[in-house]
Amino acid sequence: MSTDADKLKPATIAAHAAGAVDVAGAGVVPGVHLATTYRRGADNALLVAGNAYGRDQNETVRQAEEVLRQLEGAAATLLFPSGMAAIAALFRTLPNGARVVLQSGIYWGATAWIRDFCSRRDLVLDEVDAPDLQALSAACVSPADLVWIEVPSNPWLKTVDIAAAARIAHAAGAVLAVDSTAATPVLTRPLELGADFVMHSGTKAINGHTDVVAGVLSCRDKTSAIWQAVGIDRHDAGAIIGPFEAWLLMRGMRTLPLRIERMCVNAMAIAKFLQAHEGVEAVFYPGLTSHAGHEVATRQMSGGYGYLMSVLVKGGRKRALDVIGRLHLFHRATSLGGVESLVEHRHTIEPDTGIPENLLRLSIGIEDAGDLIADLKQALMA
Ligand SMILES: *Cc1c(COP(=O)(O)O)cnc(C)c1O
Repeated sequence: MSTDADKLKPATIAAHAAGAVDVAGAGVVPGVHLATTYRRGADNALLVAGNAYGRDQNETVRQAEEVLRQLEGAAATLLFPSGMAAIAALFRTLPNGARVVLQSGIYWGATAWIRDFCSRRDLVLDEVDAPDLQALSAACVSPADLVWIEVPSNPWLKTVDIAAAARIAHAAGAVLAVDSTAATPVLTRPLELGADFVMHSGTKAINGHTDVVAGVLSCRDKTSAIWQAVGIDRHDAGAIIGPFEAWLLMRGMRTLPLRIERMCVNAMAIAKFLQAHEGVEAVFYPGLTSHAGHEVATRQMSGGYGYLMSVLVKGGRKRALDVIGRLHLFHRATSLGGVESLVEHRHTIEPDTGIPENLLRLSIGIEDAGDLIADLKQALMA
């Protein structure tokens, strides 16, 4: 059978960890490479070219990156110790005075850090409701440097047309970067739609087992000055992931397409149940035909609409908190993308950012959909 990555489907790439095996012992599963430094021969040449020192030269990390690179259809992929470290690595390549266009209403941690970074570094920052392509065009005044979007966005599940955003960004001389955490490379491949960079919090569905913090950055053109600078920055400034975390990530990714498939089916069933429930004011999920981004999501997501949704509960803050207080199966916890379903009252986390007090964000896991619906039903009933 051909092992040409281009011909293999995501389920095969993931299950085989892109061909990573244990060469020394013929094990089916690769070992964890823990060495922090590498030997040289009598002639003082490295015994293995490219392996000099463990601060960013590690075989286990490279193996995990190769799985992600193939799943993403990327020219190159680098791992970071967190999603935020991946975001920071890209922003740090911008020269002082550069212009950034940022989608408004996205992951709060990213918004807060980008605002602070831009003000400290004298970058010009424009925040815009990017799904509105006219507004995005108006914000992309030439010359711009970087356009940052998150698709679907968290917690509103807004859906930017990535191909259109790429055209708009490029016309202004900017590169387009997409935070694709909520889609994963299984559902959307932004680079194929024209994006220049794609970022994921590997902490979420890519690892999927709620036991690794990691970040991923991939590019369409590995010869670009920005990508070169990202690589140099990771090596020199040292924001590296540990080999054990990379190994766990690779192990988690073996079932990524399978988990995503189940999470999407569960999420769709739950979104439909909640939409029909009299105790619910609104459901934000790209899979619902009532969702503003449904058409765009149908075009640029394949295999499902993701595992994340937000719900407005009728009756305000107290009722929303009462409902989550009665849930037995959903853990009340932040984060998303794990095999276990989570619920979060977002206003508690970001009180001053316009998040409604009756908004609950649900991350749907791989449990039985009927069990999850029964849990939501009893919590909404009282
Ligand atoms: C969690 C998250 C991040 C940040 O990733 P960390 O791994 O927590 O640093 C960025 N973007 C989105 C959409 C996220 O959900």
